[in-house]
Amino acid sequence: MPSKPKSPCLPFGDHKTAPWYGQDILSVKQFSRTDMEYVIEVAHEMRIMVERIGTFDLLKGKILANLFYEPSTRTSSSFMAAMERLGGAVIPISEVRYSSVAKGESLPDTVRTLECYADVIVLRHPEVGAAALAAKHCRKPIINAGDGIGEHPTQALLDTFTIHEELGRLDNLNVTMLGDLKYGRTVHSLARLLTLCSGITLNYVSPDVLMMPQDVMDEVAEKGIPQTQQTTLKKVLPRTDVLYVTRVQKERFEDVADYDKVKSAYVITPEVMKAAKKKMIVMHPLPRITEIALEFDDDPRAAYFRQMEYGLYVRMALLAMVLGKA
Ligand code: ASP
Repeated sequence: MPSKPKSPCLPFGDHKTAPWYGQDILSVKQFSRTDMEYVIEVAHEMRIMVERIGTFDLLKGKILANLFYEPSTRTSSSFMAAMERLGGAVIPISEVRYSSVAKGESLPDTVRTLECYADVIVLRHPEVGAAALAAKHCRKPIINAGDGIGEHPTQALLDTFTIHEELGRLDNLNVTMLGDLKYGRTVHSLARLLTLCSGITLNYVSPDVLMMPQDVMDEVAEKGIPQTQQTTLKKVLPRTDVLYVTRVQKERFEDVADYDKVKSAYVITPEVMKAAKKKMIVMHPLPRITEIALEFDDDPRAAYFRQMEYGLYVRMALLAMVLGKA
């Protein structure tokens, strides 16, 4: 649940009751079911507004610093687009090697700098806990856009928005996560967030060396959510409502030979998908490498490109909430 706001960033005071006003967003563990539903509701409004008028001035005069220490296409550009569609401006720092980071500046000093110029900071960093560390040293809200193999909370929120928009519900779902569950931060966040829903079953399908971490499984088990673990899709695919495919995270392997052994463990093809329900969805946080065949892209169940569009609306909602305008 949201706690005390950080230093207010609004010059006027009539929107400060929005949940998450002035708060950091570091982990999905901060969210209750009501919060998640609120994000979905606001994202839905944002979708309608973008479809109707494209850009509007809800966050006019506000500035976002987009600080990325790791590569990103969707997260960084959707946060930028979100801020600009809300009438705000962006300081993009996606090439940290051209900033003072290359001179050896620490993360706390970098965020202390950016808080002087921006109202909110979106941070991606290769180390687990980096967003929490940055938040400790920053007066302005920090939004975690991925901290190593830790969490990716805004992705999980857009994933639940996708499920809601596509299947019309968040409860009573059989969800199968496939691929690199060890290093994939998106599945760590999504598994945790789905514990807020009822009637969920989580199936984890991965090679033995890429299994879902025990701490995530323990947290999920504590909430009474049934979980299964497999190395093939066969048994669970026919009952799956959401198939969440992930890429094997090459950059997290110490030895590329180990990556080579598992990189092609699973490939979703139209043939494989014959065993799945007619009404279900296939999601992927993207980028896709080889784990979903291009031939599957035209299948109506392929939701991954729609999913990245939903990301824009969810990030608009989060920015508006954090800056007190939802
Ligand atoms: N884009 C997602 C992330 O940043 C997924 C991935 O990179 O595989 O975690």
